[in-house]
This record gives sequence, C-alpha cells and structure tokens, in this order.
Amino acid sequence: PTFADLGLSPHLVHALADSGYTQPTSVQVQAIPAALDGADLRVASSTGSGKTAAFMLPALERIVAARGDNAKRREKGKVHGPRVLVLAPTRELALQVAKAATTYGRHLQGLRVATVVGGVPYGAQLKALKGPLDVLIATPGRLLDHLGTGAAILSNLEVLVLDEADRMLDMGFIEDIEQIAAATPAERQTLMFSATFAGHVGQLAQRLTRDALSIEV
Ligand code: AMP
Repeated sequence: PTFADLGLSPHLVHALADSGYTQPTSVQVQAIPAALDGADLRVASSTGSGKTAAFMLPALERIVAARGDNAKRREKGKVHGPRVLVLAPTRELALQVAKAATTYGRHLQGLRVATVVGGVPYGAQLKALKGPLDVLIATPGRLLDHLGTGAAILSNLEVLVLDEADRMLDMGFIEDIEQIAAATPAERQTLMFSATFAGHVGQLAQRLTRDALSIEV
C-alpha cells in the first residue's frame, strides 16, 4: 500500500514524499490504519523499523482532523495543554521524535510542537507550556516536575504515546509514567511501543491500554 492508502491526508503524504519515503514500512502498514481508527496499540518493534512515523503520523492526522468546538475553544485559549504527548526515555530520543514531528508536520499550518527534557533550563520550557500546544514530547522526570508545579496541563490530552517503554522502565521511570498517565483523561488513545512486552512492561500495558491491538514486527 501507499501512505495515502493507509488513510493519511495529503499534507502528511506530501511531507513524506519530501523526505523521500516511497512506501510505508511493515510497522507503519500495520499500525497506522488501526491508530487512525482510534485503537490502542501495543507494538513490539525496534529502532530502525520506522516506529516513530508509525505513531507520529496518526497522531498528526488527529490534529489535521480536529475541527469543531474543541478546536475553536483551543484557538481562543480556553482549552489548554497538548493534544498529543510522547514520552521517551532520553533527551536524545525526545529530540529525535520532535524533529520527526516537525518534519512530518511541515505542511500543517501552525503546528505547535514542544519538547520538555531534563538537563536544560526551565525557562524556555515554561514558556512553551504556557502557549497553545499540539504535540508535546517529553522525558518522564522533567514532565512530572512541570505537572507538579501546574505548568503542564494534560487534562485535554487525546493521544498518549510511550516510545521505548521497556527502556523507560529500565531507567526507573515506572512511577513517573503512572503519575503522568493518571493526569490524562481516561478516554485517551494510548499507543505503546517497546522492544518487548514481557514482565513489567506487559503489566504497564495492561494498566494503560484498553482493548489494545498487539502488533509484532
Ligand atoms: P525509526 O525506527 O523510527 O527510528 O526510523 C528509522 C529510520 O527510518 C529513520 O531515519 C526514518 O527517517 C526512516 N524511515 C521511517 N519510515 C520510513 C519509510 N517509510 N521510508 C523510508 N525511510 C523511513
């Protein structure tokens, strides 16, 4: 199939063509239509499979499709916080994911992407969190700091993505992730990506996803 066959809109397909992507990878073929349908996903895949686009494209599509009351209220500054949150284990990965969001969303007018990671000053992050925001990419520890102060608002979140969930647990982020998830609406869509779903990652998936489709690449 082509990216258009998977259900992505022209602005996204156009950006992928700009990047020289001629056809979707296996994980993209399996994950994108299901995610566009609103399903929760548990995807066992590794780096290099094209997993970033597999979650970012359907997440961006939701922003394209968002119309009506909620969008208008967001524009008026009455609905706060991001629509999409991606949690990643490291600053480096978070920045890569943010770059992917900007690249794939380059033809979406006014798309607002922010990154909140540890090891850098709070000032710019506070400013980004205050303004209107579509996609937030964060490492769990720093995001939890911002939740604690009330700077980060997740009560209007629509999609929660956990990228490299197994690595986040290895790094001791389990409680941070649970607290972050608890600050999001229960009716959110949850997309979990991990090299494995054995052990604690599987248990976390049980708690965070609902009727999830399991995909193995
Ligand atoms: P990831 O698994 O998300 O880390 O992606 C691995 C690499 O594959 C990245 O450099 C992407 O830009 C690239 N990539 C992802 N999807 C495609 C695709 N459908 N066609 C060509 N390259 C891709």
